[in-house]
Amino acid sequence: MFESLSDKLSAVFDRLTRRGSLTEADVNEALKEIRRALLEADVALDVVRSFADKVRDRAVGAGVVKSVSPGQMVVKIVNDVLIETLGETTEAIDLAAKPPVAIMMVGLQGAGKTTTTAKIAKRLKERHGKGVLMASLDVKRPAAQEQLAVLGRQVEVDTLPIVAGQTPIQIARRAMEAARLEGYDVVLLDTAGRTHIDEPLMQEMADIKSYASPHEILLVADALTGQDAVNLAKSFDERVGITGIVLTRMDGDGRGGAALSMRHVTGKPIKLIGAGEKMDALDEFSPQRIANRILG
Ligand code: GDP
Repeated sequence: MFESLSDKLSAVFDRLTRRGSLTEADVNEALKEIRRALLEADVALDVVRSFADKVRDRAVGAGVVKSVSPGQMVVKIVNDVLIETLGETTEAIDLAAKPPVAIMMVGLQGAGKTTTTAKIAKRLKERHGKGVLMASLDVKRPAAQEQLAVLGRQVEVDTLPIVAGQTPIQIARRAMEAARLEGYDVVLLDTAGRTHIDEPLMQEMADIKSYASPHEILLVADALTGQDAVNLAKSFDERVGITGIVLTRMDGDGRGGAALSMRHVTGKPIKLIGAGEKMDALDEFSPQRIANRILG
């Protein structure tokens, strides 16, 4: 049976306290347990190291060795450091710019980019009362533009009419012009994805960015891909520059380690969580919820 990190830590300390006083070696033993659990949760190795160092410093500073309930105390410290690493506050999509505000969605094929675009459009319309226009700039995958149009009809958000033969930049231009003329508040640009990162993809993203000057560039990444998602976030951030991350498939059985690593590695906030295929399955990112998931 799966034993949670909190249970494991409590067990380690209970065993130790029954023996009398705690030593630093005991704390190190607990840290080993923490490191193992984080690695199992798919947290990147260097993130695990710096995390464990922080917990150690905090535990020593807080006098865990002499405390009455060291187990609980360490669990609390781990929880606090988890939340700090994840970013303590929830950051919403930033729309504070002159409309139409462009939001560019980037990511690999299959990550959930198009689905997430439609989910965000629905949310902005329903919760924020925004007039939203969506446009698919994916001219590589024949069905991509149609897929977005289908989702648009489903969530009752307009999509830019499809014109065959246009380049992504031409579509972006048409979308921004239509939004200006027709008074939309927000334009969601769903860009093309590929199965892996390559230079033409990055160049295309950079070109669209310099044309559309998006206020937000959101990387859509599949939480279940763990370390790959972390490397992806790093590459996209270095090459294109992202303003936030949407982690999809958090309804799957991933332990949330990707979230922890991504935030640590890129310094960019995770803004939203995809939690299913339905158009309402988009949650605000809650650091405490991810911390609970990792702690178990
Ligand atoms: P894209 O290639 O990145 O545009 O990916 P799609 O938006 O086409 O999504 C690929 C598949 O993932 C679709 O079947 C979606 O319904 C599914 N999907 C997207 N987001 C989520 C999510 O958060 N959870 C689950 N379980 N499935 C998702």
